[in-house]
Amino acid sequence: MSIWSCPVCGENLLKREKSLVCKKNHSFDYARSGYVNLLPVSRKKTKLPGDNALMINARRSFLSRDFYKPMSDSLCNVVDTFMPYGGVLFDAGCGEGYYTKNVYQSLSDSDKNAEIYGVDISKYAADAAAKSCRTAKFAVGSVFHIPVIDNSCDVLMSLFAPYCGDEFRRVLKPNGKMILVIPGRRHLWGLKKAIYSAPYENNVQDYKLSGFEFLGTEKVDYEIILKSADDIQNLFTMTPYYYKTGIQEHMRLKSLSELSTEVSFEILKYRKKE
Ligand SMILES: [Zn+2]
Repeated sequence: MSIWSCPVCGENLLKREKSLVCKKNHSFDYARSGYVNLLPVSRKKTKLPGDNALMINARRSFLSRDFYKPMSDSLCNVVDTFMPYGGVLFDAGCGEGYYTKNVYQSLSDSDKNAEIYGVDISKYAADAAAKSCRTAKFAVGSVFHIPVIDNSCDVLMSLFAPYCGDEFRRVLKPNGKMILVIPGRRHLWGLKKAIYSAPYENNVQDYKLSGFEFLGTEKVDYEIILKSADDIQNLFTMTPYYYKTGIQEHMRLKSLSELSTEVSFEILKYRKKE
């Protein structure tokens, strides 16, 4: 049985041939790549919400070069300690599935029986994720109205994605764990210095979140060196700066053939409070 729920009526969805169907016969077809679209048209604010194909391709190219592998490895360790016997993991805002895939791999390497679900508002993201990790289940959906049933997930992770505490609590089992990954203060400092004449450090949010017990944070800081204009462009395209800067900043970055930058992540750990 899957934990997917019908985005129209909330009933559990069951697999029937190439579709997911609820008791009331609302039916959702699988796309050829293997994801299912569980975003009702009424919840779409634009025709194609979320990251577009350009952003998803840039992310996929950049992440496939494993510049963020050290962070991913730390994330996998946290997931491993949170799922000693396997269980159900939900990736809220999974993007193109790089971390989802690594987490799946790490859990199966340690012989854990894990089911992994991921949702993203972008159909390009869900499509790319489904292609990169056939063993996880992906859907187009909103993290503000997660299409999974109540109390169904052992662990929920949200990486650089929108936060919705009430929904995250709803889908987590009692005592379920939550992992948030946020940028640290000096994340991409070298990139920002190359773009802006007076860059600012990131604000790091208050760790306390209502409804959750804070268990601690793991900081992952290191330096990456990008040695090609493609890598630099792909990284830039993944960031909000890409859309917030003008043509001059874009040109300045285009002329670079090498860029060295700090990367800085915080992996925040929580337990659902009853
Ligand atoms: Zn239904």
